[in-house]
Amino acid sequence: MAMKIPPVSEIAKDTYVINEFGLTAMYLLVGSEKALLLDTGCGLTDLPALLEKLTDKPVMVALTHGHLDHVGGIGQFDEIYLHPADFEMASVCNTERMRGYVENLGKMGSYEAFGISPEMIIETGKLPEMKPLQDGDIIDLGGRTVQVIHVPGHTPGGLCFLDESVRILFSGDACNTNLLAQNSPVSETRRALQYLETFAGRYDRMWNGHVGYAGNFLTCCQPKTTLSDLLTICDKILDGTAVPKEFPFLGRTMCAYEYGVSRISYNPENL
Ligand SMILES: [Zn+2]
Repeated sequence: MAMKIPPVSEIAKDTYVINEFGLTAMYLLVGSEKALLLDTGCGLTDLPALLEKLTDKPVMVALTHGHLDHVGGIGQFDEIYLHPADFEMASVCNTERMRGYVENLGKMGSYEAFGISPEMIIETGKLPEMKPLQDGDIIDLGGRTVQVIHVPGHTPGGLCFLDESVRILFSGDACNTNLLAQNSPVSETRRALQYLETFAGRYDRMWNGHVGYAGNFLTCCQPKTTLSDLLTICDKILDGTAVPKEFPFLGRTMCAYEYGVSRISYNPENL
């Protein structure tokens, strides 16, 4: 199948969202010296070719976390940056599982909306060098800086990226309206989200790692109350007032609880 180019929108000056066919969202932040690509999608996009159309600056690649739908294109680069707690997760991403993920979201709307197929996944057969990013690191792009914020929960190495020059928080999957945190104790998820909340006065908009999900053409930032609603959910789970919905997950019983615009999936035996 011929290579396709995903839809790209400029969401602020020199700031782009790349909607990888309803599968995942990547972001490109262009400074005067270099650019920063956040995440690499599912591997359906020829990223070096796309980046060349968007900027002539050298591009640093950083990952919000190590899940397969964000690391799929890492083999197209020589080096990438992410939190060390997700190094292993990122290095075992495999094409077979990626195909399954593409197939799932394809059937949920991406096939119809974008005409993609799992066969489009670009296999490079190599991994880049993985370099560490830690909480508090500052990435200087020239004329704009991006602060790294460690928010474990969805994965142990979840990172958010704060760009005060455009007052946007790029929250990956660490803070979104459907927070999957089955492997994290709820008390630790809450602690991480409380830490993230200390940055609330420094951004106006929050863009997560899955805008335009599954063929939804609406590409927009998430509601302002996403984070406060997630914290309310944590409080209600921990004080026993949440009445969750149960669902089976990999042979275990998991719970999900919703409040306001947000929902958290968690393990009731790991509070
Ligand atoms: Zn994820």
